[in-house]
Amino acid sequence: MDIQDLAQRVIAGERRALARAITLVESGRADHRAQAVALLEATAPEGRQALRIGLSGTPGVGKSTFIEAFGMFLIEQGLKVAVLAVDPSSARSGGSILGDKTRMETLSRQKNAFIRPSPSQAQMGGVARRTREAVTLCEAAGFDVVLIETVGVGQSETMVAEMADLFLLLLAPAGGDELQGVKRGIMEIADLILVNKADGPLKETAMRTCADYAGALRLLRKRVYDPEGFPKALMVSAVTHDGLPEAWKAMTELADWRRAEGHWDKRRAAQAIHWFEEDLRLGLLSVLDTPDARAQINALGARVSNGTLSATRAAEEMLAHLKI
Ligand code: GDP
Repeated sequence: MDIQDLAQRVIAGERRALARAITLVESGRADHRAQAVALLEATAPEGRQALRIGLSGTPGVGKSTFIEAFGMFLIEQGLKVAVLAVDPSSARSGGSILGDKTRMETLSRQKNAFIRPSPSQAQMGGVARRTREAVTLCEAAGFDVVLIETVGVGQSETMVAEMADLFLLLLAPAGGDELQGVKRGIMEIADLILVNKADGPLKETAMRTCADYAGALRLLRKRVYDPEGFPKALMVSAVTHDGLPEAWKAMTELADWRRAEGHWDKRRAAQAIHWFEEDLRLGLLSVLDTPDARAQINALGARVSNGTLSATRAAEEMLAHLKI
């Protein structure tokens, strides 16, 4: 494979080249990894920055309907939109909550849209790295907005927030006790809460839910990277498209403020360090995955289990064996 050629075609915005490039970074093969690193380096100098938007919500809240509507709205504004998904369920069970091909049909037919389902890979850390690399490839390909969608389970939300400039939480209208259902940690990373389905008979409930969450957000500790009035809760309808312009206005307002105040660059720099350390951690763990290391671990483990070696000493011996 000619990596330089592929890089040029990604930079030219060819969607098929972008799809191939992402397949390359998703591959677990060692020779592919080397090519992927070369590709990422060859596309990096473009220095293009998309607005990276993380989006989370439980199944059924309307994520795909929202992304379809919001994506179309952005395209009508003349923007190019990429959609990536992080689906922890596909990593664990091979099943999928997100990212099947029938979703977002209108959006997927647009020439200014690119939709990619979640990589299925055994390890959440691996999925994170691949998605983050896919985000940078979409940026290099000239996409203005990259939406990274995930479901509200496990650690996928914090992981997505670590690769996004803005993090949106999509919620459905619900009775008062639903508020407790959203974990505090998720509220703390949200920049914008969007109460979806604010239409028809659900509108009243949506208004109440929105007010409840606005109140809950005000109780959170003020974050240095927020201007006055953020994080905020807004109502949208992915079906009627009501509230989409206001939601987009809030996102651009927040992004512009963070850029002007230096928080944007600081956040991206901190994220880069986070991913460097994360990759390092994964690399270290992979050292334990070789046949030789497995054999050593099993041999030491046998002695730990029959009581002839302490767990502490066994770990020390293993680390010494690995020269770490
Ligand atoms: P996801 O699982 O989060 O991706 O949710 P979907 O986008 O598949 O939507 C789940 C259900 O909610 C579908 O039946 C949608 O038609 C419906 N839905 C999504 N958005 C809205 C909305 O804004 N208003 C109404 N009334 N229904 C919606």
